[in-house]
Amino acid sequence: MTRQITVGGVKIGGGAPVSIQSMLNTATSDVEGSLAQIAALKAAGCEIVRLAVPDMAAAEGFRRIAAASPLPLVADIHFDYRLAIAAAEGGAAKIRINPGNIGEEKVRAVVDCCRAHHIPIRIGVNGGSLDRTLLEKYGHPTAEALVESAFSHIALLERCGFEDICVSMKSSSVPLMMQAYRLMHEKSDYPLHVGVTETGTEYMGTIKSAMGIGGLLCMGIGDTIRVSLTADPVREVYAAKSILKAAGLRPQGINLISCPTCGRTKIDLIGLANRVEQALRDCDKNLTVAVMGCVVNGPGEAREADVGIAGGEGCGVLFVKGELREKLPYDELLPALLSYIEKL
Ligand code: SF4
Repeated sequence: MTRQITVGGVKIGGGAPVSIQSMLNTATSDVEGSLAQIAALKAAGCEIVRLAVPDMAAAEGFRRIAAASPLPLVADIHFDYRLAIAAAEGGAAKIRINPGNIGEEKVRAVVDCCRAHHIPIRIGVNGGSLDRTLLEKYGHPTAEALVESAFSHIALLERCGFEDICVSMKSSSVPLMMQAYRLMHEKSDYPLHVGVTETGTEYMGTIKSAMGIGGLLCMGIGDTIRVSLTADPVREVYAAKSILKAAGLRPQGINLISCPTCGRTKIDLIGLANRVEQALRDCDKNLTVAVMGCVVNGPGEAREADVGIAGGEGCGVLFVKGELREKLPYDELLPALLSYIEKL
């Protein structure tokens, strides 16, 4: 089992539930816009939010956002240790910085500040920005190179007597990041922040994240996750929740079963299944809902579900807890299904 760190009120590692993170795409100097996005992320189920802090104007924005944020904030810092200190003093719940990039004396200053404020540090190794010496040694980014890079940053913090650490080793290559996290998992018990980076737009990015993050979670690797998409960050949270649900780590919520449709389907089942999924996206009732196309396999699945529909010719039958309740025209199926779910 990994060690445990605490980010705001959220525990990471040591058997705590795998938490969901995302990152704002607003300017950190835009306090109102950033707080609005944090509110939307929280409503979607996000638990920790990261913000870029590229300059002192952003650090000032960060301080004002942290004072009003309902979620713990992570300050993302590159190179300038003064920004890390400003963010730590300005209410950060965690700092993401790679100590190897800033020099040992400055690392000590950051560590002292984080220790004083009880703030962990995430070491965030990225396959796209590996140290030149490691690239020369390994020829190209490999799992071993990512892990060696992480350990060199860890060693710096440990030399300062600081072990309140979590580690990520992201890559845009799913096999590479999976190998790196597996290797790290064998060698270290620091909690792991897992993600595939630069995955692309929502469709392919969700597939890559489901493979990389989901695959590792199924092996018992990963303590907190971030899905990275070229899309609204809220979509990242929906994808992360679905990955946790599919990995059996978030049993709450709707388990939607729907058939792939075939020549027997006589209603717009794809449209209906999508509308059901959309309508129940934020429902946290622990229910199985079946949306099936016809009378061949439909009634069986619909009966097994808590609420189910089996389609017919322009209509469908509705089952609740295994009992046939109604036969309804197509247009009435969705409102009826939602009203039964409401009552359960
Ligand atoms: Fe086809 Fe019916 Fe199976 Fe759906 S449930 S795929 S409509 S046979």
